[in-house]
Amino acid sequence: MISEKMRPLVDNNSVIRVMFEEGKRLAAIYGAENVYDFSLGNPNVPAPDEVKEAILEILDEEESTFVHGYMSNAGYEDVRKTIAQSLNDRFQTNFGGDNILMTVGAASGLNVILKTILNPGEEVIAIAPYFVEYGNYVANYDGRLVVVPPNTVDFQPDLEGLESRITAKTKAVIINTPNNPTGVVYSDATLRRMAEILKKKEQEFGSMIVLISDEPYRELAYDGVEVPYVTKYYRDTVVCYSYSKSLSLPGERIGYLVIPDELSGSREIFTAASIANRVLGSVNAPSLMQRVVKRCIEKGATVNLAAYDRNRNRLYDGLKECGFSCIRPEGAFYLFVKSPVEDEKEFCSRASSHNLLLVPGSSFACPGYVRIAYCVSYEQIERSMPAFRALAREYGLVGE
Ligand code: PLP
Repeated sequence: MISEKMRPLVDNNSVIRVMFEEGKRLAAIYGAENVYDFSLGNPNVPAPDEVKEAILEILDEEESTFVHGYMSNAGYEDVRKTIAQSLNDRFQTNFGGDNILMTVGAASGLNVILKTILNPGEEVIAIAPYFVEYGNYVANYDGRLVVVPPNTVDFQPDLEGLESRITAKTKAVIINTPNNPTGVVYSDATLRRMAEILKKKEQEFGSMIVLISDEPYRELAYDGVEVPYVTKYYRDTVVCYSYSKSLSLPGERIGYLVIPDELSGSREIFTAASIANRVLGSVNAPSLMQRVVKRCIEKGATVNLAAYDRNRNRLYDGLKECGFSCIRPEGAFYLFVKSPVEDEKEFCSRASSHNLLLVPGSSFACPGYVRIAYCVSYEQIERSMPAFRALAREYGLVGE
């Protein structure tokens, strides 16, 4: 007997499960190398060498009971200080270790901050297209997700749409830049204007609206594009960061929250969030990974961005040559392609008949588009091109 709250989650899980099963079914028939699975955001670029080096060094050099022990729910102090310093160096911020709370990845960071601030019935705004789990996380704390429809011209957020949806019940707005699934980086102008709107609405309602910046893709930006640091635009910001993509460590579950001093009630929120970390069952972020992250920062470790960039260019150019329409992503590792027919689920199922596994945009509250995750091998992209061309031909996008 599962709970009432759990039942819709089980039912909604089916899209992902169907895709997973479909991948296995196709691989059994055609061979894994002839199935082009672009459905998952699981990095294929290996973790940088510094990760392995750090693990070995830590096991050699640091006391086992220390490395594997409990620590403060917020994480190791020296790790938090190192992260704060690195942010300050890169983004001219002014954080200390006390502003950093280590979490079990961004998923956990989002849950921690939502648990900390949300009362039942309060509203959290997400801007479509958005990471589908936001709705589940908000529901965990009996909040209500309010969705701003997508701006399909350039996929910068529709700020008028945002403004009109802010009410006295709005507790938070979640943004994600670089964005999953569009690859768009929210511009300086967008963030400036968004901050003005939020400040104005805070005054109008005499409330606090927390801007939650979910940024697991911060380091994945191409062509020298800058990803603005959101705390510099709006004081009531909480940053939710993850090393899942920036160090290719998604299974290790490590990230952090930045809770700046400028945030209203910062100390109370920080203390409550540390307790939320505990009562949600994580207790603290994985200790070995905290120590690894510290050493990786000190050594300047980064993931091989050039590999994703190469994939991005090959796939974007290839799809354009086939007649598909999409904006050129500036960050993350996704392409968001316009479906040649209104019903993008039909397009996805036709794609799967060419062994191409794509995710329907309706999974991101943006029907009519499909997401292609290019965190796959370059060879897979090369091999998949004839399949994309054949698919395009079926829709008359490209000649014989
Ligand atoms: N937020 C976004 C936008 C994501 O795309 C993901 C994972 O793909 C997450 C959060 C969760 O990441 P993590 O592995 O850090 O929990």
